[in-house]
Amino acid sequence: MDNNLFSDLENLGFKDTNQLNIYQNSESKAADTVKPEEKAVDEDSLLYDRTVTCPVCGSVFKARSVKNSSYRIEEKQSDYFIRYSIVNPYFYDVWLCNDCGYAAMKSEFDKIKEFQKDSVKTNISSKWHGKDYGQIYDLDIAIERYKLSLLNFTVINAPASKKAMNCLKIAWMYRIKGDAEKEMTFLKNALEGFNTAFSNERCPIFGMDLHTLTYLIGELNRRVGNYEEALLWFSKVITAIGVDQKLKEKARTQKDLIKEARLLEGKDITIEEIEAKQEETKKKGGFFSKFK
Ligand SMILES: [Zn+2]
Repeated sequence: MDNNLFSDLENLGFKDTNQLNIYQNSESKAADTVKPEEKAVDEDSLLYDRTVTCPVCGSVFKARSVKNSSYRIEEKQSDYFIRYSIVNPYFYDVWLCNDCGYAAMKSEFDKIKEFQKDSVKTNISSKWHGKDYGQIYDLDIAIERYKLSLLNFTVINAPASKKAMNCLKIAWMYRIKGDAEKEMTFLKNALEGFNTAFSNERCPIFGMDLHTLTYLIGELNRRVGNYEEALLWFSKVITAIGVDQKLKEKARTQKDLIKEARLLEGKDITIEEIEAKQEETKKKGGFFSKFK
């Protein structure tokens, strides 16, 4: 990838991240102190503090958390992004230990292994100077914290699925922000990670079974403009046995969107011709050979 995914973390002191490839094990640099964020909203009453013990350094800290009654689901999008109202739970998804700089999406926070803790201490803690994020988090804070989580996942060489989900969530934050270019960068990184996870990891992955993951990879391909590959993945969902009807329906709907997009682009090749090509590839034991 040519874009530096961590460029926004420079003001935290993580300056030499442009060499960092999230899907390869590598070293990183780290942190300075940045001034606290302040925001006066009564959102405070919709949140509570959860007491968390850091698995890396043992510090006990308060993690800002969203009460279940504090948000409403407004919309679910085709790549599983949820648009919330009142409070946005994504903003509070990353837990960060301010003592050592260890950060992770909360579902993964305690899942760090012993040998990975040393990587955090060496690559993050040694440079981390702390940052006060205040009591209320906003979109920019969420992006920064998701990137700190991704940086931690990268230095501990976490499974591709975790980095992929982290990238997907950053893409969603840029979608909320209306920054299509950065959204695309992170969608592409999410896709790369889910592709790797599909080959190397066992489902469920973040609650997704194999068919759901197949659909998601199709949808991410569609969103980044890889229409032919998207169709391959959607077809697999549509033709597989034992797939939830709703998921099949979603795959059909997204397939139709590609058809429309291709018509708009004035492409000569039809969906039928693409499918014939896919059939050929399948016979040759190409792409489809990974499906069993
Ligand atoms: Zn810690």
